[in-house]
Parts: sequence; C-alpha cells; structure tokens
Amino acid sequence: MSPRQKYRLRSRSDREVIREVEPGKQYVDGESGEPFEVVGKLIPLAPSPSSLPYAVENLRLCGCSLEQLVQRDLNDCPHCDRRLPALEG
Ligand SMILES: [Zn+2]
Repeated sequence: MSPRQKYRLRSRSDREVIREVEPGKQYVDGESGEPFEVVGKLIPLAPSPSSLPYAVENLRLCGCSLEQLVQRDLNDCPHCDRRLPALEG
C-alpha cells in the first residue's frame, strides 16, 4: 500500500473532516448534507513514512484546561474553540 495524501475538508457550517479524496468526487457532510470543500493538505505530505494524521509529532497541546492533543496545523482547538498560538519556526 502506498501512502496517500490526506486532505482537510470543510463544510459551510465549519464542520471539518480529514480524509483521502479521490479527484473529481464530491464529498458531503452526512449530518448536515452540505458539500465539503477541500481547504488544505494535511501534514505530513505524502509520500511520507508516516501517513498517520494523529502521529504524535503532528500533535500539540491546545493549552486550555481540557489539555487536549490537537493537530499542529489547526488554527483553532476543536475541543474548546480557542485560537491556538502560532507555531514557532
Ligand atoms: Zn482546547
């Protein structure tokens, strides 16, 4: 199996999913019925030895009292909606 690039998809109501996408295929939010738009590639970019979006090197603490691990490339904590601080470097 070759590693596949995963993408971040977002619906109009800002629900997000992470998944592989096939070119030309339309993805729809099963709950709201809204179409998903591809808004970004997920790091690490394929090809990569790790295609796991939740690999620990891709996570950081969101900084709130919930102390949730969130993906490094997110702008907002999905658990508490806090704005995450900018990544250094
Ligand atoms: Zn949080």
